[in-house]
Amino acid sequence: MTDFDYLATRQQHLRESQRFRNLVPRAADGVYLIEPDHRRLLNFGANDYLGLAVQMRDDIENSNAGTDSGDGECWQVAGGSGASALLSGWTVQHQRLSEQIAELEATESAVVFPTGFAACSGTVSALAEAGDLILSDQLNHASLIDGCRMSRAKRIVYPHADWQTVDSILRQRRHEFERVWIVTNTVFGMDGYVAPMDRLNEIARDHTACLIADEAHGTGVLGEDGSGVCEALGVKDQVVIRIGTLSKAVGSQGGFVAAPRVVIDHLVNHCRSLIYSTSLTPAAVAAASAGIDHIRTQPERRQRVKMLARRVRSELSIEPRNDLEASVPIIPVVVGDDSQAVRVSRQLAELGFYVPAIRPPTVAEGTARLRISLSAAHQDEMIEQLLNAIRRLV
Ligand SMILES: *Cc1c(COP(=O)(O)O)cnc(C)c1O
Repeated sequence: MTDFDYLATRQQHLRESQRFRNLVPRAADGVYLIEPDHRRLLNFGANDYLGLAVQMRDDIENSNAGTDSGDGECWQVAGGSGASALLSGWTVQHQRLSEQIAELEATESAVVFPTGFAACSGTVSALAEAGDLILSDQLNHASLIDGCRMSRAKRIVYPHADWQTVDSILRQRRHEFERVWIVTNTVFGMDGYVAPMDRLNEIARDHTACLIADEAHGTGVLGEDGSGVCEALGVKDQVVIRIGTLSKAVGSQGGFVAAPRVVIDHLVNHCRSLIYSTSLTPAAVAAASAGIDHIRTQPERRQRVKMLARRVRSELSIEPRNDLEASVPIIPVVVGDDSQAVRVSRQLAELGFYVPAIRPPTVAEGTARLRISLSAAHQDEMIEQLLNAIRRLV
């Protein structure tokens, strides 16, 4: 495993020159901010030029439509956050959401981003530097690919899930690089494939590399506690940098990174998509906070969607590559030909089902497909009807 002492050393230098940045959780009250020490400050740091964000907060408070979080605190969910996280855009609710995420992920710290895309691209580009190597799975999400492209590290794309190739590249070339980052989706959104996180973790350990996991499709669904693939494969405590989205199973919008505190501090100080973008909007923060709570208290939702995934796969005879993949709620029905995929998708729509056709370049040539995404909210009859329609058309 990579140790992050070098980040701690740099942060010490920043502190000494008074340049170390911290997120300060503040409460918003109209045009005032309440500091952690309860001082009430008139806010001259937001970009709410027309006062509309303040107006919308007032309106919702006056209509009592703010949701009570249960401890008597009225969540002000209308309007935007007004500024980036390092200025006045980081509220006590952002802080609490980050703490909920760190608890779910069992990491020291976490931070929330405006989107999952920003979390992925920003984290990879902020950590991998000139002189480093990034090993990136061929089927990685566009946000990780962009992160690799924006960094000054050398990038090698390895064949999908091919941990043997990762191992052999590192055997031959590890000495050429300062640090090595292995970057991968944990679930691949177009195929429902699961990355061999246990194998990759061993390789990262053997070669002193750092594995960065993008759990976008895993969070909330896989693993006993619902924290994703790393948990399901028993390497949650070893894969120390995990990125996720609040926009899929969590049911809101936004992204997050869960990691050791020194890594989160690095992102707060250097990650451009976190520093130079308006922080996650309060409505999304409130919804995400509720979503993470539901993930903790309602394991039956993930049990149900996993059961549905197994049923649909087995009824359509779509073999998973391993047992964990069997319970991923993304099921590709590969038809091969682009026009055939589009035609079946259109016919399904006529029967009342939205099942998108996915074509190249999103997937490889000759593997156009229908992609079924399942939900715990789908009822048994709905699944039956979909299966009947697909059997008839494909
Ligand atoms: C959806 C997704 C993202 C982006 O998340 P958003 O919150 O939609 O921006 C990043 N990585 C993967 C693997 C995804 O599936």
